[in-house]
Amino acid sequence: MPIYIVLLGPPGAGKGTQAQIISKELNLPHISSGDIFRENLKNQTELGIIAERYMTRGELVPDDITISMIHDRLSREDCKPGSLLDGFPRTPAQAAALDNTLAEFRGKVNAVPYIKVPQEVLIERLTGRWTCRAEGHIFHDRFNPPRQKGVCDYDGSQLYQRDDDTEETVKNRIHVYFKQTMPLIDYYRQAGLLLEVDGRQPIEKVGADLIYAISKSI
Ligand code: ADP
Ligand code: ADP
Repeated sequence: MPIYIVLLGPPGAGKGTQAQIISKELNLPHISSGDIFRENLKNQTELGIIAERYMTRGELVPDDITISMIHDRLSREDCKPGSLLDGFPRTPAQAAALDNTLAEFRGKVNAVPYIKVPQEVLIERLTGRWTCRAEGHIFHDRFNPPRQKGVCDYDGSQLYQRDDDTEETVKNRIHVYFKQTMPLIDYYRQAGLLLEVDGRQPIEKVGADLIYAISKSI
């Protein structure tokens, strides 16, 4: 049976950072809805052009578009063993659609690690975030600086700051998270799948806690 893990947490909690660490450990592909939208935007596909309108404002891309994009992605060969989902689902409708999609693949959500971080930390994390152009490796100018400023440690590509990591857009993304995504915490807690991890700890410790909690529960 395939294994599906859903990473939950507010914007800036460290989902992308941790997904890059733990997808190797668990041998599951890292599927990030935000990365897929950004890739489409870079290639100026129809999907990317539609998504841009929402992303630049810090709003969610409509459910029907997002759900069908993730359905296509999870249908691909590399997701046969399952996947580590980062940034999806983000609304109750997306969570219900995910359950249906996974049933189609004879799977289900197996665990939902929730990276818990207090709100006041998030703005500083996101406005200091630097991302690599080639593979999306994630750094922070203070908390996780690259060895050489502006250059990715892993592939030497250029680091950039995302257009939606400005203070104004970040504030809206956090607001959107509280309104639309928070209900999922209860949804998965009631399903007995939620694994809470303290996201204020150093990156390596959060990673170790996540791997421990996930391994125990799957
Ligand atoms: P998300 O995918 O949840 O939005 P990221 O993984 O992109 O979050 O992390 C947001 C920013 O915070 C990045 O700049 C990252 O380097 C930094 N970061 C991630 N985890 C930690 C941590 N445990 N402590 C300090 N900074 C962190
Ligand atoms: P973060 O680092 O804040 O967790 P992401 O990279 O996951 O950000 O998402 C960036 C943007 O992409 C979101 O603000 C939203 O516009 C869009 N997006 C990503 N995932 C979803 C989703 N599941 N549903 C709707 N929109 C999404």
